[in-house]
Amino acid sequence: MARYTGPSCKLCRRENMKLYLKGERCYKEKCSFEKRPNQAPGQHGKQQKKISDYGVQLREKQKVKRLYGVLEAQFRRYFDIATRATGITGEILIQILERRLDNVIYRAGFAGSRKEARQIVRHNHVTVDGRKVNIPSFSVKPNQVVRIVEASRKIPRIVDSVETADGRGIAEWLSVNKQAFEATVSRLPERSDVNYEIQESLIVELYSK
Ligand code: SF4
Repeated sequence: MARYTGPSCKLCRRENMKLYLKGERCYKEKCSFEKRPNQAPGQHGKQQKKISDYGVQLREKQKVKRLYGVLEAQFRRYFDIATRATGITGEILIQILERRLDNVIYRAGFAGSRKEARQIVRHNHVTVDGRKVNIPSFSVKPNQVVRIVEASRKIPRIVDSVETADGRGIAEWLSVNKQAFEATVSRLPERSDVNYEIQESLIVELYSK
């Protein structure tokens, strides 16, 4: 499965926003975005460039894709699903991204980053309603129960993530039982549950050209 393997911190500096791609490091002083805010990567990163409307829309799309660790083809598919659904397209797009199983593992506090969550899912450490699911893009539904399998509950990075989860914040649309390594989807995520600086309407404008 194709995925981005380049330097993560560069992406935050490119998008001028913390994307929380490196787990605990993102919450510490070591974060390279904190050290060099408002500075794009590269030799000319400090220069302020004039950016067109198209450029602004493109950056917004790239930012959201990188935040959720989704590549272009799949992101476009999500957008197409969102346009066919009833409701505000941009908000539905964000909801689709939030419902991904790797995002749920991250939002429930079982992983320090979405990248780590994706690995946890891929390595068969997760069940949904008692069945093993190793597809990071699996879309959860209300009342489904996501669990870390018993044999994996002693893995240090999962244990560490659970211990530090409160510092990162747990999504309100999930009901988490840390002792049981279990999260229940209590309702669908709403736009107000996602507090990143995202202007999804710009993505809709970009794809609607
Ligand atoms: Fe981004 Fe995390 Fe790197 Fe900071 S440490 S720049 S938030 S990936």
